[in-house]
Amino acid sequence: MANEENSKAAQVKKQLFMNRKNGCRKVSTDDIVKADEFCEEYKNFLNNAKIEREAVNYSIEAAKNAGFTEFDYTKSYAPGDKVYVNNRGKAIMLAVIGKNGTHNGVRLGIAHIDSPRLDLKPNPLYETNDLALFKTHYYGGIKKYQWPTVPLALHGVIALKDGTNVTVQIGEDESEPCFCVTDLLPHLAVDQMSQVMTKAFNGEHLNVLVGSRPFNEDEESESVKLNILNILFEKYGITEEDFLSADLHMVPAFMARDLGFDRSMIGAYGHDDKVCAYPALMAALDTELPESTVITVLTDREEIGSDGNTGMKSTYLVDFIADLAKADGEETRHVMAKTTCLSADVNAAFDPTYASAFEANNSSFINNGAVITKYTGSGGKYSTSDASAEYMARIRKILDDSGVLWQTGELGKVDGGGGGTIAKFVANYNADVVDLGVPVLSMHAPMEVVSKLDVYMTYRALYEFYKA
Ligand code: MN
Ligand code: MN
Repeated sequence: MANEENSKAAQVKKQLFMNRKNGCRKVSTDDIVKADEFCEEYKNFLNNAKIEREAVNYSIEAAKNAGFTEFDYTKSYAPGDKVYVNNRGKAIMLAVIGKNGTHNGVRLGIAHIDSPRLDLKPNPLYETNDLALFKTHYYGGIKKYQWPTVPLALHGVIALKDGTNVTVQIGEDESEPCFCVTDLLPHLAVDQMSQVMTKAFNGEHLNVLVGSRPFNEDEESESVKLNILNILFEKYGITEEDFLSADLHMVPAFMARDLGFDRSMIGAYGHDDKVCAYPALMAALDTELPESTVITVLTDREEIGSDGNTGMKSTYLVDFIADLAKADGEETRHVMAKTTCLSADVNAAFDPTYASAFEANNSSFINNGAVITKYTGSGGKYSTSDASAEYMARIRKILDDSGVLWQTGELGKVDGGGGGTIAKFVANYNADVVDLGVPVLSMHAPMEVVSKLDVYMTYRALYEFYKA
């Protein structure tokens, strides 16, 4: 009798409770194999797309290989055609024209390709006490203490007055020099160690060491700086003034690596948000003749609030949709009202070492699949679009019907902090949006951690959403 009751309880429980066991137990061995395979090229993407410009270059090349051509608003396009729009080399949109074009709205996947880092100031190079250093202004939300003593590489472009660009990437290959921010030895850090973190390391401490030898034996002042400028002149043909027209970024110099004895995870710089941008790009490339036109946006400037012409507060996406709508004889506003969007961005994975920052019932977990975040924001749901119940139901159905492993997550406990994504900017144009992405450990640190299974399931989620 007792046994029967237990089994009845077990049955009802199975019917009524959410299944919250480890995602690895819910998927097939085939899924795990596919996830591992998918992540091999993802690691390559990470290593070759540390800054937004490199991510755009990678995407254009991959798109061209998949049959995409550069969009021309004077041309007309047919269902199945594939086009891309390059926004200033720092953001990109890829569209696959659907059978219904824009008549039923478009299916949008949006992710960002900028990541937290140290940008060089416009006048970066200086010499002090016979050392040459770069002044930096950090980009995005970083914990400043994490950046000293990490090997750094310099990426970006220097635009010259003659209209040409010098592309810079130095410090990634072991044959090249790298750079670093120094820290104080513990022996002399009595004062430093007694300060609060935000005081012990402030933005003006993030100076990058770039040289120590003088130009020659002349007794000229600032000869260490002169020597560095001379090396830069010989290598890139630039002078000190050319730094004024440059986008130069210091990023961690290490490569993406498998993490854990079981190789189930990846440790790398820039998962936020390349870990969603790459699955979105792959979903775009794999999409053939969808019902509604599919647009994938890989945008810039999310980490600093999305302002600017290459960020999601810019009109560039809606302007593109307007071009497509016009070709279909539609009004943009009618297309936007029927548009559905997955805002593909990361969420914080539950970290048992810092469990008190989370509320476990509503956190996302490593290996439990793509995480749907109904709302982000902070302090009483401020600054978030908060997906509607109806839209959540629609997304649940798409994912469940196609066997995608997914979970929900809130960003940390209530009033523990918070953050936003680009979801709200698209929602403000009257589209339906929800966040879906990969749970990340150590988000915004020089090395972030994700699970391979979650990366693959995010790709599958986007692909199935595009098809639906
Ligand atoms: Mn992000
Ligand atoms: Mn971020």
